[in-house]
Amino acid sequence: MKKYIQIVLLVLLILTPISCNNKIIEVSPDELINVNSTQSLPHINSTEFEFTPNSDKATNNQSGVLYSLGFLQYYDDLLYLSAHGMVYRYDIRTGNVTSLCDDPLCSHSDEACPFFGIIPYGFHIYNNKIFYTQNYFSTKKDIFSEPETVNIGRFVMYDIENRKLKVIRNIPDGVLIESKYYHGNYLYYLNTLTDENGNHTFEICRQNLDNFNIESLIFLGSTPSAIAFINNDRIYLASDVGLYYYSLSDFSTPHYIYKNDSVDLITDGVYFYVLVRNENGTNSLIRIDMDGNNPTKLCDDNVGYICSTEKYIYYRKNEKIVVGKDKFGNNIEIPDSNVYRVPKQGGNAVLVYSFPQNMKNYYIGRFIVDGIYLYANYGYYDEQNNTLYESIRIRPYDFIRINLKTGAIYYIYKEE
Ligand SMILES: [Zn+2]
Repeated sequence: MKKYIQIVLLVLLILTPISCNNKIIEVSPDELINVNSTQSLPHINSTEFEFTPNSDKATNNQSGVLYSLGFLQYYDDLLYLSAHGMVYRYDIRTGNVTSLCDDPLCSHSDEACPFFGIIPYGFHIYNNKIFYTQNYFSTKKDIFSEPETVNIGRFVMYDIENRKLKVIRNIPDGVLIESKYYHGNYLYYLNTLTDENGNHTFEICRQNLDNFNIESLIFLGSTPSAIAFINNDRIYLASDVGLYYYSLSDFSTPHYIYKNDSVDLITDGVYFYVLVRNENGTNSLIRIDMDGNNPTKLCDDNVGYICSTEKYIYYRKNEKIVVGKDKFGNNIEIPDSNVYRVPKQGGNAVLVYSFPQNMKNYYIGRFIVDGIYLYANYGYYDEQNNTLYESIRIRPYDFIRINLKTGAIYYIYKEE
């Protein structure tokens, strides 16, 4: 216990700040492409969408504390993207985009489509198969009884080669929290157990993606934990009381990394990058090693969102900008969406992207940076209707791609 307290004190007090000097890198928007398409993703100009295998790639950016950003994955030099209730595939050399369900007679809008009801975050490609969760209401009709509507929740596998869908596991009603993490040939997940009185307890399980066998690894009791990361034979879990891990070969003792209120947490397998909540409500970006030692403050900004590449932590600030007033006269605020980055090894933070003047009402939500591209959920304040448009709430399949070098903006699915 004493050690945990020491670690918390280390994180909170003995921070070694590295000076942040925000400078602007020149990025000017030279093109703005509007795409109106409901059935297919647009064809991407291949010269613009160059393949840069040696660029600064996104690292493991799956954040288990608040959410997982598993909406795109490279596989066999193709970029797979979960969007609009479908998985799409970009050929990043030619710019061709195809949907994984290529049945010309499929409407993609009912149970006949293998991707119907796909949960957009957290799909995974392994061994030429796509693993994902489906959730939808299904109405059974027969001539003998009233139509019956049931909630379908299931973990499935779609074979990219033979285009067959296989149900691996049905997820029963009453599963409260979904937390999952793919590692090697396993899916690790939080399982909800419900007794006859309706009380819930939790356990961490893993399912083998080759033979589908399930093992229960850790019984957690009545306090759920999210699966944060699996790395170097350790499974890291996050709960209200902090971040801790078990050795995958010994589940007898939980080892605490820190116990405090973190806003977000990501890792690249070498360090943890934690947004620590300060008493005055601001967040500090702290780098700690995988055992919870050597906390280093990476910049002085009040940081709101972080994303890791090989060399940098990209972030936006935890600040709001007033863009207008609603019909009651209250301020409408959007997140400050200037994008900064700071070297992981320490150094100056610099501004790398800012929306152009004619898009000052736009903002980004969650994002990842891969090479020169930033992919994000986005939103904007609609002056005419006095409303805040949020892609993540209204249409959670809506993305924007920004070329950080040229400022070119590309909408991946946009409706008028
Ligand atoms: Zn379909």
